[in-house]
Amino acid sequence: MSSNLCYLGNHSLGTGWVGVSSVHRSMAAVESCTRAALLYSSLPCIIIRQKKEGKLRMGVRKAELVLYDTTLRDGAQGEGIHFSVKDKILYVRKMAAIGVPYIEAGWPGANPRDEEFFAAAGTLVLGEVKLAAFGSTCRIGEAPEESEILKRLLDSGAGVVTIFGKAWDLHVTDVLRASREENLRLIRESVAFLVRAGREVIFDAEHFFDGRKENPAYALECVRAATEGGASVAVLCDTNGGALPQGITAGVEAVKKAFPGLVLGIHAHNDGGLGVANSLAAVEAGVTQVQGTWNGFGERCGNANLSTLVPWLQLKQGYVLLPEKALPQLTSLSRYVSELANAKFDEKQPFVGRSAFAHKAGMHVDAVLKNERTFEHIDPETVGNERRILISDQAGRANIWEKMRKFAPGILKDDPRVEQAMLRIKELENKGFLFETADGSLELLLLRILGWFEPPFEMLDYHVWSDPLRGELDSVAVVKVQVGEKQVHIASEGNGPVNALDQALREALRAFFPALAESELVDYKVRVLDGSRGTEAVVRVVVETRLGTETWGTIGVSTNILKASAQALLDGLYLAIRRTEGGSR
Ligand SMILES: [Zn+2]
Repeated sequence: MSSNLCYLGNHSLGTGWVGVSSVHRSMAAVESCTRAALLYSSLPCIIIRQKKEGKLRMGVRKAELVLYDTTLRDGAQGEGIHFSVKDKILYVRKMAAIGVPYIEAGWPGANPRDEEFFAAAGTLVLGEVKLAAFGSTCRIGEAPEESEILKRLLDSGAGVVTIFGKAWDLHVTDVLRASREENLRLIRESVAFLVRAGREVIFDAEHFFDGRKENPAYALECVRAATEGGASVAVLCDTNGGALPQGITAGVEAVKKAFPGLVLGIHAHNDGGLGVANSLAAVEAGVTQVQGTWNGFGERCGNANLSTLVPWLQLKQGYVLLPEKALPQLTSLSRYVSELANAKFDEKQPFVGRSAFAHKAGMHVDAVLKNERTFEHIDPETVGNERRILISDQAGRANIWEKMRKFAPGILKDDPRVEQAMLRIKELENKGFLFETADGSLELLLLRILGWFEPPFEMLDYHVWSDPLRGELDSVAVVKVQVGEKQVHIASEGNGPVNALDQALREALRAFFPALAESELVDYKVRVLDGSRGTEAVVRVVVETRLGTETWGTIGVSTNILKASAQALLDGLYLAIRRTEGGSR
């Protein structure tokens, strides 16, 4: 006779204990009780056994996954991605501070930059982070002791070495042109050699999922060879990125069945747009090491995107990959990685993109302002992002009111100035203005309607000449501005007409607003709005101005590109003066 009583306490905090009272206080009874309780829990848990004060206890804890960041190696193989040695050092320091446990930092031997990096990395103080050197097995017919590839991996000084080997016999016969047995030897002996040299060895089973489709027994033999060599983790790779989640699940389950207790990892590429989904499926099936790259950098369509995968696993599924404090830094971290790689940041990225929580349609905005859960799957702040209310011709009163409240917190939704702003924005957007790209001009428009903005200066007149034969400074602009009682008339050269106009305006204003020099024009975009009218078409100009860490966009629309540019430049300067001089003048 036995009666078990079982409860899960404090489960949402990450740790819970299963209390058991039974006539037979056997571990088996406790275990079955725990499993039953876990069925009712949505969080992924691992079971901990403990004997305390003579009583058997079993605990549940949020399962820990190991994050293996391959941005510096696989990510750097992406088009347009570049890291110098100095960038790599900055990167590693940043990830160490965030708490990333494994960083695959390069392929010593494949390029001199990576060797230089590992030489420099030896002196870095990195706390808990482990740097992995990446490479392949030794070559056909070669003993590991003779292998230049393996020698360079050891010479790198990295404590962790990750090597890949073929797990798809098509590659063995058609690319390596070796026997299947020889390929198994390369894997087994290379891993064993590195283990004997005292390294932690991770084995990447390249093309595992494709290999398994065509020759499942051989794909498993490749994993077996790595375990015989002593690899600490076998990473199953969807190298061509063409698998579906159900194929990943079946593959992981097959390996788990063949090698119970073996630590498994997932390395998924994104060629089918499923890099993240496939990684999630692998974790669900029991993999504990998760590989990927920030922003999904990587060859072709990239790798599993850690900027998406980490919040999925940690925030939505309750696994632990990074310290809790890291999550609110995800947005800035992802941007940092793009900056460092000199790559354009994808603003449409889930979780961390600027558009991820941007609401535009009037009805959606109205709903979000009443209850944000209506159109947001998570609170943007949990990943360090922010909610944005976009202003456009689709905007309803709620969008405009929300924006105006930033400047006038007490303003009521039915204040006539809200209506006035809405009508003015719709009128301008009809002419080709697009305020969602021009937050600076929108701010000025709203401040004007609130009656809180007087232009600090007025541009009375301007002329611009261009002569392409003059060389680099091919344009001259003359401007006449009025500041208070004074008029200034000044000419300036520039690289192109817009640059000349910007230079002349800044020159004319320098004596009145010296702090203006701290701001600069950082981007200039022109778009033709009505292509059918040829050179008569309306153009939209958006310029971006930077002041310290803040940037803002301002806009101008005209059939005359210079006039549109001047409008956008003026708004940019007005705001720069407002920010640096404090308030309006
Ligand atoms: Zn890869």
